[in-house]
Amino acid sequence: MPEPLHAVTAYRHIMDSVSRCAAGAGRSAPVVIAVSKTRTAEEILPLLEAGHRHFGENRVQEAQAKWPALKAAFPDAVLHLIGPLQTNKAKTAAELFDAIHSLDRPSLAAALAAAFDQTGRRLPLFIQVNTGREPQKAGVLPEALEDFYADCATRPALTVAGLMCIPPAEENPAPHFAWLADRGRRLGLKNLSMGMSGDYEAAIRLGASHVRIGTALFGARG
Ligand SMILES: *Cc1c(COP(=O)(O)O)cnc(C)c1O
Repeated sequence: MPEPLHAVTAYRHIMDSVSRCAAGAGRSAPVVIAVSKTRTAEEILPLLEAGHRHFGENRVQEAQAKWPALKAAFPDAVLHLIGPLQTNKAKTAAELFDAIHSLDRPSLAAALAAAFDQTGRRLPLFIQVNTGREPQKAGVLPEALEDFYADCATRPALTVAGLMCIPPAEENPAPHFAWLADRGRRLGLKNLSMGMSGDYEAAIRLGASHVRIGTALFGARG
């Protein structure tokens, strides 16, 4: 487990690097989502204490175990769901999270609309696109994006804020980011959730509004 001091040092380094990259590209700095999946509350606390507020988790159950207490201590923390969501967990997710980056199918759109109506919550949503057409990966296929977005737009409870992608690990991510940015422009969606520890600089240059950074902040996952 990294020492808290090291975590905060890594944090300052990443925030500086993100700012410099955005300034160099003539863009405003993106929201940095600190991806805290698999990290304990003790590892997360130093970042909260350093003033960071945006965090990402990929599993509802794990987030449910860690975040109610952290949010009680830091009520302005913003929790992003960045992993796949099962329809039967839509209501729990609506109550626990503040944004969802993994909207990827009509059944989930319907479940989230119902969950938002039940809870009165209205979370910003990102449509995840499987830009690399990987069978094991979540996300709508590129050619299905436009129809899926139109379907979501007919549901008053849903606010589609932007698009999200995770490029194939072994490919140059830049063409995927550029494609997502182009689709965002065409659909009038301003937010792009793209870029992780290994490729956030390319994502920022291509217009990321949100980068999701785990290992570069917290160290390698065990
Ligand atoms: C784990 C994860 C990240 C963070 O990846 P790192 O390489 O550790 O920065 C980003 N996005 C998603 C969807 C993830 O599951």
